[in-house]
Amino acid sequence: MPIGSSSRHLPEIAGLADLLQRGERRALARALTLVESTRPDHRLQAENLIETILPATGWATRIGISGPPGAGKSTFIERFGLDGIARGCRIAVLAVDPGSKRGGGAILGDKTRMADLGRASAAFIRPSSAGAETGGVARRTREAILVCEAAGFDTVLVETVGAGQAETAVAEMVDMFLLVLPPAAGDELQGIKRGIIELADLILVNKADGELRDHAQRSAAEYANAMRLIRPAHAEWQVAVRAVSALTGEGIDTVWDDVIRFRAALEASGAWRRRRAEQGRSALWQEIGDGLVERFRAAPAVAGRIAEIEGDVAEGKRTPASAARLLLAAFLGSEYPS
Ligand code: GDP
Repeated sequence: MPIGSSSRHLPEIAGLADLLQRGERRALARALTLVESTRPDHRLQAENLIETILPATGWATRIGISGPPGAGKSTFIERFGLDGIARGCRIAVLAVDPGSKRGGGAILGDKTRMADLGRASAAFIRPSSAGAETGGVARRTREAILVCEAAGFDTVLVETVGAGQAETAVAEMVDMFLLVLPPAAGDELQGIKRGIIELADLILVNKADGELRDHAQRSAAEYANAMRLIRPAHAEWQVAVRAVSALTGEGIDTVWDDVIRFRAALEASGAWRRRRAEQGRSALWQEIGDGLVERFRAAPAVAGRIAEIEGDVAEGKRTPASAARLLLAAFLGSEYPS
């Protein structure tokens, strides 16, 4: 029996969960649409679904993939995914794009970007949908990962499109973070945000083929040097830097070996389980925070005053602390009249 909200067990959701766990593609697409929806009734159904499928989740390897536009992320994902399938894996690809202003649809060209992988029966690609705020994106991506796991995918790749906050959010919901970079000169290394480098468990310098081959290998050596100055996130894992070619497939096998070694090392030390537990706790607090802020913004005692008080803060007429206290007092006063 699902935990918590079993009192509102929904029969149609049980049917969907069943089809999903049998690997039915249409059920998978429907389930993902449900977790992506912000409609309150869909939210309830999505939560019910997640609770129903929970026992069938948690086993996959969750890998975040990031890097600047043009570095070759989608080319890499396609190659890595196809090689994974050849190894017997089932691969799901999710895209996260919180900054997207593109109206309501998929990231442009996503389907054609990974055409061969998209056609494989052991793979599933879900382009990101645009529109929601970062908090919403984090939640639905977390839930989409669980949906993919319940549908039998043992490797879930989460690609971040667009830079910034998305990387940190994704790093908090995956087990391993891969950074795909183009070959670069030493001084260009400075341009990559240190914060993003620090998230990486594996750095891939892509395009190590043809004329770029030497260049990529030199870059990889320079990155490896730079990494020595960064404290590793996991005591049991030394961040590796690899020169690869997503185009020719060279080095991709090594990446798979790295993924397997990474998981084995973290599982052996207990860090894998600890990290998942921490991620669960932090997601809980994020949900609580998001829920409270949502209620706060919508509360009649607050809603009409936010714009004005925000303006006061922006103009320096009021400090953020006193403005927050004022609004919180208004909010709590309306909730708990004294
Ligand atoms: P993304 O924006 O990071 O997803 O990058 P894409 O995968 O779309 O690749 C951007 C460009 O780099 C495309 O023209 C690819 O064909 C090219 N590219 C990707 N991987 C490689 C590679 O390993 N070697 C070479 N030479 N070109 C590549």
